[in-house]
Amino acid sequence: MSKIILTGDRPTGRLHVGHYVGSLRRRVELQNSGEFDKIFIMVADAQALTDNADNPEKVRQNIIEVALDYLSCGLDPQKSTLFIQSQIPELAELAFYYMNLVTVSRLQRNPTVKAEIQMRNFETSIPVGFFTYPISQAADITAFKATTVPVGEDQLPMIEQCREIVRRFNFVYGDTLVEPEALIPENEVCCRLPGTDGKAKMSKSLGNCIYLSDSADEVRTKVMSMFTDPNHLKVSDPGSLEGNAVFTYLDAFCKEEHFGRYLPDYANLDELKGHYQRGGLGDVKVKKFLNNILQEELEPIRNRRAQLEKQIPDIYEILKKGSEVARAEAAQTMSEVKAAMKINYFDDEQLIREQAEKFAGKN
Ligand code: ATP
Ligand code: MG
Repeated sequence: MSKIILTGDRPTGRLHVGHYVGSLRRRVELQNSGEFDKIFIMVADAQALTDNADNPEKVRQNIIEVALDYLSCGLDPQKSTLFIQSQIPELAELAFYYMNLVTVSRLQRNPTVKAEIQMRNFETSIPVGFFTYPISQAADITAFKATTVPVGEDQLPMIEQCREIVRRFNFVYGDTLVEPEALIPENEVCCRLPGTDGKAKMSKSLGNCIYLSDSADEVRTKVMSMFTDPNHLKVSDPGSLEGNAVFTYLDAFCKEEHFGRYLPDYANLDELKGHYQRGGLGDVKVKKFLNNILQEELEPIRNRRAQLEKQIPDIYEILKKGSEVARAEAAQTMSEVKAAMKINYFDDEQLIREQAEKFAGKN
């Protein structure tokens, strides 16, 4: 069986370091591993509209931002198909049929959707489109017969929902769709990077992000004002690592070689953590270290972005071409789905013949 990747991001803002460690960095590695037959990377504008229906301009503006972030991180249009969700009408068509295979109570149990509804204060005014986006996401994944979906941890319930839809579809209509697998980061802290404010998740919607496109100064300012341990007031006080975003980021980004370059008094992260917990190590010193590490990782991305920003029409062209390739792929799956569901009336000569015979017998 072919190995196929489908994944994507909502164009609700520029991409941040949470996306980077949660999914983007892995995608680039997988792309360059050469192990995959096809790779589809989607800018999920239709999904973004499910909770931004009244703000289409925001979605429109952020398509190019997300595409710039993709390319500057190393996604390569020669190796990966970059496309825009709304340009593939088959995705909406598939979702429409999958809706028959999912109950309202099953959707209500989805913990990510529950949390997102709360975060957006939707309560009783949830748009139907937002409520059903896990179904639409199942359409996105299955349209490309994806086997592998590299995502952050918050997406696990979506992949599980998708697998259930696939199993139900194949059971009812015969083997047609492929069950995907989620690929979440091996490093646990990367599954759900907290915000700079220490809140559970760095998220465009919460405004607690370090963006891949932030300037060196912006990154430094954000790092220096990050949430640490509120009880660590004096340098001599013992500090806690629990919920301390600076140390969580170090867990996500720090390698042993960074100590030699930026903090040679310590051999590794465990030593640094030990000193912090004992007391005598100030937040400023740890933050400066984190800032150095982040700058090293983000600088090449920022530089590539600056070059790419001079080629905007070419990037739209990449997305247009990618959308054409993706559409052909989704159309192929759609025709298999229609045949399995027996809604391919005009392609089915046997049906027409049988009906003709039935009515001929009547007269
Ligand atoms: P929004 O607030 O609009 O939902 P978002 O910041 O949550 O935006 P998405 O576009 O929903 O971003 O997520 C895209 C991908 O990035 C998903 O695979 C998601 O799991 C991953 N991701 C998002 N935020 C984080 C994070 N803080 N840590 C790790 N992975 C993340
Ligand atoms: Mg999200």
